[in-house]
Amino acid sequence: MNVLQERIRQEGLILSDTVLKVDSFLNHQVDTELALQIGQEFARLFANQSITKVLTIEASGIQFAMATGIALKVPFIYAKKKKAVTLSEKVYSAPVHSFTRQETYQISVSQKYLGPNDKVLIVDDFLATGAALVGLVDIVKEAGAELVGVGCVIEKSFQEGRGLLENKGVQVHSLARIASMSPGQVDFIEDESLIQPV
Ligand code: 5GP
Repeated sequence: MNVLQERIRQEGLILSDTVLKVDSFLNHQVDTELALQIGQEFARLFANQSITKVLTIEASGIQFAMATGIALKVPFIYAKKKKAVTLSEKVYSAPVHSFTRQETYQISVSQKYLGPNDKVLIVDDFLATGAALVGLVDIVKEAGAELVGVGCVIEKSFQEGRGLLENKGVQVHSLARIASMSPGQVDFIEDESLIQPV
């Protein structure tokens, strides 16, 4: 998505060789028009696959899962990071190791909302080490649902996440794939599936 690459170039703050801050349009303040376009792009990339649910993890995947759910006309679910007192029913759960926080936490999804009849598209903001997405893939498996694929807004292709998911047979589409970055410089990998036929 060219518009996304442009925004990353113009507004992204590269805090180190591995951390990109996009708080002005994706992660803190959200450009709602861009979020809706992102949802439409995921719907296009995973078209005609009879998806029944979009799944993400709180908090920063929510706006993109919602936009995708709107485009596909299906509900979206967000996995919770803390077991809420209101989540009293049975849950699917998986451990996720956060490399930024150096801690492992459990994510959970109520068994009421995901089951063997579902075809699931997972959506998230960033693909870095892949730990969060692997946790979501495990939840889809535990539910006995079918995983259609994973859609990521920004992939840091120099980290191991994509390889980890592809080794599990998961189809991954990222809208902006960063080959490398350093302060003042971002290099993208061009992905042919993202070029819309004229
Ligand atoms: P993972 O390492 O599991 O692929 O990424 C976990 C989560 O960390 C992502 O969903 C995203 O919210 C956050 N994250 C990872 N790398 C970055 C980054 O460079 N910038 C920002 N803003 N968030 C990131």
